[in-house]
Amino acid sequence: MVSSVHLMSGAAIASSTDNWLIIVFGSLILHFVLDIVPHWNPDPKKWPVWKYAASAVVDVALAVLIILWLAGWKISWQMVVAMLVSELPDILALIGYVFKVKVLESYNKWHANIQVHSFNFFGFASQVVALIIMGYIVYVNN
Ligand SMILES: [Zn+2]
Repeated sequence: MVSSVHLMSGAAIASSTDNWLIIVFGSLILHFVLDIVPHWNPDPKKWPVWKYAASAVVDVALAVLIILWLAGWKISWQMVVAMLVSELPDILALIGYVFKVKVLESYNKWHANIQVHSFNFFGFASQVVALIIMGYIVYVNN
């Protein structure tokens, strides 16, 4: 799943509660739930590194801008932490993949196995729908 959906999920959770337990564990659990929703993803093995990196930067930058806009250009610590936690499983996977970290090997295998990729219209639409629902939650709670 693209980063903007994960970041938006963290922002939506943090916008809905002040409970740190829900913010941290909710953001973490929702990451894996979203990973099992059929979704499109750029494939790091098929795309050249520059294209993959550039798409990741645009993805994250656009998401942060849209979240700031939906939240009325103010962001709480809860939102920052939730967005980081919601992205943490992919950051760990990237670190494990790029630096060949031994302790992350079994995690990376598991994380890769739970992904449900869908390289068709549905894989794209599922992410747009998730973005709209969670973006609406961010908007109405800020
Ligand atoms: Zn993931």
